[in-house]
Amino acid sequence: MNEGARARRTEAAGPAPVRPEGFRARRFLPRARPPAPRASFWIQDSTAKLVVMLHLHRPIFRAVALASLLAACDATGAAPVRATFEADRAWKHLETQVALGPRPVGSEALEKLRVYLETELRAVGLEPKRETFDCPEAPFGPIRVTNVYADVVAPGADASKLPIVVLCSHFDTKLYGFKFVGANDGGSSTAVLLELARLIAASPSPRVVWRLLFLDGEEAQRAEWVDPDNRYGSRRHVEAMVKRGEHKRVKACIVLDMVGDADLVLTRDSYSDERLFKILCDTAKSIGLEQHIGRKSEQVSDDHLSFIAAKIPSLDLIDFHYGPDNTYWHTKEDTLEHCSKASLDVIGRLVVAALPAFEKFATR
Ligand SMILES: [Zn+2]
Repeated sequence: MNEGARARRTEAAGPAPVRPEGFRARRFLPRARPPAPRASFWIQDSTAKLVVMLHLHRPIFRAVALASLLAACDATGAAPVRATFEADRAWKHLETQVALGPRPVGSEALEKLRVYLETELRAVGLEPKRETFDCPEAPFGPIRVTNVYADVVAPGADASKLPIVVLCSHFDTKLYGFKFVGANDGGSSTAVLLELARLIAASPSPRVVWRLLFLDGEEAQRAEWVDPDNRYGSRRHVEAMVKRGEHKRVKACIVLDMVGDADLVLTRDSYSDERLFKILCDTAKSIGLEQHIGRKSEQVSDDHLSFIAAKIPSLDLIDFHYGPDNTYWHTKEDTLEHCSKASLDVIGRLVVAALPAFEKFATR
């Protein structure tokens, strides 16, 4: 691993908060993981965080459920029904990416992945777009990056008038002289975002546009992470939005990155918007996943910085402690064996459960 790069990518943000009684160092003691509720359908109203299990076997229950659902819609204006996040599907998306081998900027493998992303997005009824940018500032000569994104718009809605919430993940992997397959770094979040696309496309919101954005060129060309040699895709995406004036409608950006760590504890990133981070914490608590939220505050440089530069409130969902002393990060150890389907399930359920609150944030 590259210590220099790591030092530049994360710094402690002041003194660590005092650990509450009973806090246990996560690397050394097993955590109790209470089973979280699994819901095929759920309802969440605007005033109370309520997760309701519905067993829709009998017509009367179905009628009651439908009435409750309509009431919930009235209260929030949101479309609160979503299918279940299927970790099996996400894991297959991850295996597919890893099977392509290293996927650095400009590679044939990355283009194959791009086509895979587009195919999967079309399969769930979305219309993916490509945007290509030349980046002459790259340190070893110009590079070309191509992002893929799809907007989820409710039927009949005027997308040009709605607020936008961006959910994004980078899908490139860092270029190394060894075989770096980026199962966690690049692969895991892309897999989760693709499965989220299926769910969100199945229940579009009449109140917001969900933008599913797959970013190229997050990784630095050099070993070290030094601006502007990083975030090529996200920086250009934001610049393009600013040119169109579209950035004014983007009310939140949620970045997913390195979410497949078998020992998943999301880093408390101090660049992230506090209100969005609170939504994450409250949601995690409401569904019994709070043990996956870290306590120590750190600054993590990631694609969210491009959105923050345009004053868009942003949240980085990342576990930036991968393996003992982060030794799986940016090394040949970043493999499927060090990721887990259970972690993809955790992050998927967490984001799905938080979507109504993100939507409320965007329409406040
Ligand atoms: Zn990386």
